This record gives sequence, C-alpha cells and structure tokens, in this order.
Amino acid sequence: MTTDAATPTTVTVRRAADAQPLISAADLPPARHFIDGTFPEGTSPDGSPGRVIDVIDPSTENVIARIPEGTAGDIDRAVAAAAGAKGRWARLVPKDRSEVLHAIADRLAENTDLLVRLESANTGKPLAVSQDDIGMTIDTFRFMAGALRANTSMAAGDYVEDHLSVILREPLGVIGVITPWNYPLLMAAWKIAPILAAGNTLVIKPSEQTPLTTLKFAELVADLLPPGVVNVVNGHGPETGARLAEHPDVDMIALTGSVASGRAVARAAADTLKRVHLELGGKAPVLVFEDADLAAAASALKGAGFWNSGQECGAACRILVHESVADRFIGQLVDEVRSLVVGDPRSGEDVEVGPMVSKAHFDRVTGYVERARNEGARAATGGAALDGPGYFIAPTVLVDLPEGAEATRQEIFGPVVTVETFADEEEAVRRANDVPLGLSASVWTENARRGHDIPARLDSGTVWVNSHLVLAAEVPWGGFKGSGYGRDLSVYALDDYSRTKHVMHHHGR
Ligand code: NAD
Repeated sequence: MTTDAATPTTVTVRRAADAQPLISAADLPPARHFIDGTFPEGTSPDGSPGRVIDVIDPSTENVIARIPEGTAGDIDRAVAAAAGAKGRWARLVPKDRSEVLHAIADRLAENTDLLVRLESANTGKPLAVSQDDIGMTIDTFRFMAGALRANTSMAAGDYVEDHLSVILREPLGVIGVITPWNYPLLMAAWKIAPILAAGNTLVIKPSEQTPLTTLKFAELVADLLPPGVVNVVNGHGPETGARLAEHPDVDMIALTGSVASGRAVARAAADTLKRVHLELGGKAPVLVFEDADLAAAASALKGAGFWNSGQECGAACRILVHESVADRFIGQLVDEVRSLVVGDPRSGEDVEVGPMVSKAHFDRVTGYVERARNEGARAATGGAALDGPGYFIAPTVLVDLPEGAEATRQEIFGPVVTVETFADEEEAVRRANDVPLGLSASVWTENARRGHDIPARLDSGTVWVNSHLVLAAEVPWGGFKGSGYGRDLSVYALDDYSRTKHVMHHHGR
C-alpha cells in the first residue's frame, strides 16, 4: 500500500451558489395515475383522493411533489384498460407500430432538457448522468422502432412430407412492468419500447420514490398512443406491484429491482403461471491482471465504479487485482477517485457524484461501510458520510478486506468499491464467480488468450474486456444466477415479449 493511498482526504459537497430549483411547478406531470389515456381524478374506489406519497429531492431533502398512493383497485382498472386496448394495438402492421415508436422518440427528444432536469431533481443524479439516461431512452425507442420491422425466423417449409410449417410471432397481450429508482425513465424505456414494439399493451408501476419522469412520459406521449396501450399506476411494491404480478389478466410481469422483490414477484406470478422477466441486482467482479494497462483501468473504473453515484446494477464495485501490481494499482485508483466532483446537480454540468436516492438508502450504504470497517477493512479514500442537506457519501475505496467480507459479497449500491488481491488465474475466476449474483464483469489484460478465455469462464450476462459499463441498444443486457433471467435491449428483448406459434398446413393430395 502506498503512503499516499493511505492518507485520508476531505471531500466537500459542491452546492449551487443560488437557490434556483432545477424544476418549476409547471414542469411537473399531473400528480395522478394515467389510465386509459387520461389522468383521472380520484384514486380510491369511492373516488376520494386517497393517500399520497411524498416525492423528495435527495440533494435538498425538499418535498417536490405528492403523488397518489395507488391501490389494487387502481391496478385492476389499468389492467382492464390495457386488456381492452390489446386487440387493436396487436393488429397494427409493423410499419404503423414503428411510426408510433419513432414519434415517441421525437417527442422525448424535443423535451430532453425538461426530462433531464426532472430526472435530476427527483433522483439527485448529476446532470451528465441524466443527459446520458435520456439520450439512451430515446435511442431505445428508435432501435425498437427499426428492429420490429426486421423480425427473423426459421424458413417456412415442409419439414414433414406434405406439411408446410409456418412460424408466427405474436404479442403476449398485457404486460405488467415494475421499475426501480436508479434509472427511472431509462429502465421504463427498456421495458416499454420492446413491449410496444412486439405488439403488447402494458401497465407500469414506477418506483414510489421516482415516479415523475414516467408520469411525464405518459403526459408527453398521450396523444401518440391509443387509450389503454400504456397505463401508469403509482404506489408501493407490496400493494400495487404485487397486484400487478398476481393479476389473472396480466400475461407477463417484468421487474427491474432487487433480488428480494424479484423473489416476491416470481412467487406472486406463480399461481397464474404467467411469464416472468427479472433484471435484478449485480456485484460485478473486475479482474485486473498483472499485464493490464493499470492507468487505463484505474481511469475507466473511476467512471464505471461511481457512475450514478454507484447506484448502478453493473457498477465496477468488486475489484480483484493481481497481488504483484496491487499497491501500484490501488495508488492510481485512489488518485482517480479523489478527483471525482461531488455535488448537487444544480451546481454544474461537471458534477460526477450526487447523493443517495433516499435517507433509507443512505443509511443502508453507510451501514455497509461501517460493518466493513468492523471486519477489518480500511478506507484508502472516503469512507464517510458528507454534510447535508442531502444524502451524500464520499467516494470510497475499501482495502484490506478479509476474504468473504460482507462488503465484497453483497450489493452495496453506493459510491463504494472494494479492492482485493488474487495470486493466479484460477483464484481470480473462482472468486469472481463466488457470489450468488451474475449480472456483469470485466477483465483487464493485454494478453489475447486471457481476454478470450477468462470471459468464457465467468458466470455473468455481460463481460467487458478492457472496458466496463459500456452499453448499446443493439446488444442484450441481463443476468445469470441471482441476477435474474430475461434480456433487456436488442432483438432478444423482442423475443422475450412475444410468443412463437407453429402453424402446420397439410397440403398432400
Ligand atoms: P426494489 O426492489 O426495492 O424496487 C423495485 C421496484 O419493485 C419498485 O417499483 C418497488 O415498488 C417494487 N417492489 C418492491 N417490492 C415489491 C413486491 N413485493 N412486489 C412487487 N413489486 C415490488 O429495488 P430498487 O431499490 O428500486 O432498485 C435497486 C435494485 O434494482 C438494485 O438491486 C439493482 O441492482 C436493481 N437494478 C437492476 C438492473 C438490471 O438491469 N439488472 C437495473 C437497475 C436496477
């Protein structure tokens, strides 16, 4: 360990000089559900306003909106609307569905600035992260608009004498969607775009903490879609999410969220045997071999470990470095991490790390750091909460962890990376795979054999070589093991949200 890396640093939260808020009241979407093409008044079965959920800006701790807390009855109404709309939407030919998706992309692009500010106000995420989110949201709609017109399948033909086989690809019907708070609109888009592209209708329940951009999406595209094709119901997971998962008229349930919610959703879906699509947690191993370009790795991992303040399922959070280069690499990584700009999103476009999304999540992340210290770990940099208001934590690199320490095995989901060492390839692969999650991983090496061989041995849905956290709409995203099943993005998502039917014609005489 270098002396430099062991020196603690003082991190301060950059604040905006004026108290100018990111959004005004006029920017907010209607604080209602969106059902059958409208934002209906009243939320409870008797039409009364019902209970509300406070929506908080985590960089100021101010309440910025109040949204209705949905009920099972709201879900039932939304599912009925989606079921009523599914026949007409499914019958549209690909070209017509494609035009609607392109129109949605255009509408979002026209409103990029508003969506960026709304997303940052609700999540505290740096503006640069929101800009990336909204850019990828638009690109996801554009990709799906194109891909749905280029479906491929096995050739129609006689596979049994005098029997012609034709494979049809059909929509499933009504899809239930449940999204998390870390990328509210982007995770919604990863579901909505392929679900609509494949000819389904949907009901989405955004995270109760971050509903604003999903509601704004509904407001912005309401005139582009037939009523009932997209419906949004606000509310908590155990009530509205659970009802969506168990609902007999929902043909498939797609969740992006934690492993615990994934289990709950799969259980709730079991009685109706509906299809389940789960994008769950990650604990990405990052294998840095002795032949790697260490400076390039340290620089890239500053981004990939702390993007979205580490609240990222693919974050480069679990670094395993060859023992012969560990001191040098940790020194370089710590220098990089100390250069991160922590701040309120209003304080400049160069802010790189924002607050945790909520007080509860802040407590969760600081709890992990505290327990890691109790297990013998040392913060080579960071390791402390930062002064409020807002739920800020200093970018942290934990070293000297005993093998199997909690911080190296469980998803922390904050600005915290751990660094451990390995002695050889076998140990690197064994330890990389030795967690129940398998979403993504990266391998850092200049050796071509390793660059192919090690990814093939890792239990991860995505493996980067000399890179980390680079995504594109054309390529699939999804996990193995406890990270779930099903694929977002790419034509694989279109497959997931549709069904194949074999039609066989006997034409013998
Ligand atoms: P969460 O599981 O707490 O919440 C996700 C959604 O599930 C919310 O809308 C919530 O209301 C709902 N929910 C909670 N309990 C439910 C239940 N019993 N039934 C139905 N719905 C329920 O997750 P979060 O804290 O919002 O998001 C962080 C998690 O999401 C992390 O674990 C992260 O790794 C994961 N994530 C995964 C990916 C991926 O692509 N694999 C992407 C982003 C986030």
